[in-house]
Amino acid sequence: MLILGVIIEYAATSLDRPFSYAYKGNKIIKEGIRVYVEFAHRKVVGYVVSVAPSSLNLEEYQQETGIKIKEIESIIDEEPLFNEELSLLSKKIASYYFAPLISVYQSMLPPSLKPKSSSLSKPKIAYESFYVPLSSCEEGLSAKQKELLRLINKEKEIAKKDISSLSVLKKLEEKNLVKEIKKEKIRLIQEDVPLEEYKELNDEQEKAFKEIVFGNDRSFLLEGVTGSGKTEVYLHASRELIKQGKSVLMLVPEISLTVQMVRRFKARFKKIAILHSGLTPSEKYDEYRRIAKGDVSIVVGARSAIFAPLKNIGLIIIDEEHSETYKQESSPFYNAITVAFMRQEYHNCKVVLGSATPSLETKIRALRGVYHQLYLKKRYNENELPHTEVIDMLKPSNIDTKSVILSLRLREEIQKNLQNHEQTLLLINRRGFAPFVTCRKCNRVSRCPTCFLPLTYHKEDKMLKCHHCGYVEEEEKECPKCGSTLFSKVGFGTEKVESEISALFPEAKTLRLDSDVTKIRMKASSIITSFEKEEADILIGTQMIAKGHDFKNVTLVGIVLADLGLNIPSFRSNERSFDLLTQAIGRAGRSTKKGRAIIQTYVPNNFVIYDAKTQDYNRFFNEEMANRKTSQYPPYVYCTMLTFSCKEEEAVKEAAIFFKKYLEAKFATKKVWVIGPSEPYLVVMNGKYRRKILLKYKNIEDIKEEILQIISLSTKNKKVQVTVDVDPYTDY
Ligand code: ADP
Ligand code: ZN
Ligand code: ZN
Repeated sequence: MLILGVIIEYAATSLDRPFSYAYKGNKIIKEGIRVYVEFAHRKVVGYVVSVAPSSLNLEEYQQETGIKIKEIESIIDEEPLFNEELSLLSKKIASYYFAPLISVYQSMLPPSLKPKSSSLSKPKIAYESFYVPLSSCEEGLSAKQKELLRLINKEKEIAKKDISSLSVLKKLEEKNLVKEIKKEKIRLIQEDVPLEEYKELNDEQEKAFKEIVFGNDRSFLLEGVTGSGKTEVYLHASRELIKQGKSVLMLVPEISLTVQMVRRFKARFKKIAILHSGLTPSEKYDEYRRIAKGDVSIVVGARSAIFAPLKNIGLIIIDEEHSETYKQESSPFYNAITVAFMRQEYHNCKVVLGSATPSLETKIRALRGVYHQLYLKKRYNENELPHTEVIDMLKPSNIDTKSVILSLRLREEIQKNLQNHEQTLLLINRRGFAPFVTCRKCNRVSRCPTCFLPLTYHKEDKMLKCHHCGYVEEEEKECPKCGSTLFSKVGFGTEKVESEISALFPEAKTLRLDSDVTKIRMKASSIITSFEKEEADILIGTQMIAKGHDFKNVTLVGIVLADLGLNIPSFRSNERSFDLLTQAIGRAGRSTKKGRAIIQTYVPNNFVIYDAKTQDYNRFFNEEMANRKTSQYPPYVYCTMLTFSCKEEEAVKEAAIFFKKYLEAKFATKKVWVIGPSEPYLVVMNGKYRRKILLKYKNIEDIKEEILQIISLSTKNKKVQVTVDVDPYTDY
């Protein structure tokens, strides 16, 4: 008989330990496979973490140990899901992030391999299903159903895999409002890219390349403005390491927004895997197997690609390393950059962090010599940076009587661009039409019933939406409080800018890119490609339009309201705003024509806006470092955020105060600051009230024991749950 240690699929800290099960059969059981077991009267998926033979039979075992154990129900895999390195890595991550092991496994594996019941029903698709509309009649539909029906009617045809809510879809199908059509499956998006020659590197690039590939250091910061030729350095370094028989892992912030970068990698490498969200679960599985078998020598992907089962890694590249997308905002709350350095320990490989605006944490490490600093100081084609103007939106002379959104200057410049057949980007970092809807009579604000945050009005499908939890409802016809039928739609987002632009420039062709658009999965890249092909004059969008694209004919970038990000109560809001503005401005004039940028703001003297205008990273770095020092935030200290949650508000309040006192007593002699408890930005999430406590410290060793203690205390308490976020990206 074998005694198996099995961790089960529920990612709760209270269940984060192996449970014993027996196996009486004669198959070979290896650590790291999935099995079915019965747990709390349910059949669940478990992951085997230990296998120990026992000479006793089940009854004797139970008598001897006094533990009642069950047999496993069945075996799912024959071979372990992880190789040795990834298995060690998972333990390192769980320990660093105080996370349940199972949540680490679930983050590391592709959908059909996750130790999770829902993963085992992933279909093998030979045909691909599409849905077409039969009717637009909305009688008796819920808001979610209407939202989807309107989308299908608008798009005429949507692939089933691109529809996020299948249960809503099923309802529409039952009501005969949409129907399924099947088409033979095309291995999509494997666009064939003709092979491309390597470009000869200039002196700066050559120096960076040589240091990375042949130098003694292992970790690098490659700092260079957009267009300075970083990608060309990545390509050369990758080629060289592959020539040496190594493999390469390249991370980008988001695949659908980096089509051009991906194309350039495809044009240079044959044995490449691209991991992106447009793949179906079975395609992801195929790619994963291909990588594990050693059929590819280079992998390009977003955050979770850091877990690609590549062997013999020689180089890990993290492009736009300052991007917030490298941090996963759910358990285990890992950061792909931290994981990259964990993999470096095993493979002894090179890690290159690339950015035009490195995060403060990265930059300070480079300044202190932890990372070898490399620069690309000039734009490759020696193009000047765009000429940038800041427009004070409070100054009457700047106001355009024809528009509430555009200043006179920006409208004139857009007009000029239309005449010259040059393209324009307009950035407004908020989607939807209006961020508030209020009753004109009683001033009631429409709010999300679960998060209590104001709902955003979306004009395209006439819905009110919560941008935090995805809740949608019909536009209200009358105020539930006073019955009035008059509403004000306050403020503006991408949809409103779009409609204003169409009104002001009826002849212009516009496209919009924000995360509403990405509800249809490959839509973002098709919009980008279309704009690249100059099929439209103006692209309006959120931060998604600022990321790394190389639009040759864009000569004007307008930032419709630069202040949005500055008002967010987070220690990182200045940094994020600076990054976004700098990146957006950098989109103008990438080719032969000179670029210009216009920043509209109510706070023209804010240092972030000034530094973005002058594209002065160093000045920004120094000023913001001084702020962080005064307020004691990273990189001066490290942080860990504890979030407590419970269905009852009183209980969570009490627990948070209890833990605060507990921690303060423990840390009385150590250099640890306990901040809070306070209300997080989302006071309610998934029906649970929340409170947070922020720990600031110089050395993680000072808090480890106490955090484990808190996890174990709250596990016993059962009512109040705690989640631990080590190195949180923000603190609100
Ligand atoms: P970054 O990644 O820093 O934004 P890229 O690598 O995309 O910069 O380079 C910007 C532009 O300059 C691209 O069009 C690229 O093809 C071109 N370029 C870069 N390096 C070279 C080189 N050594 N020779 C010729 N063209 C280059
Ligand atoms: Zn009212
Ligand atoms: Zn909500």
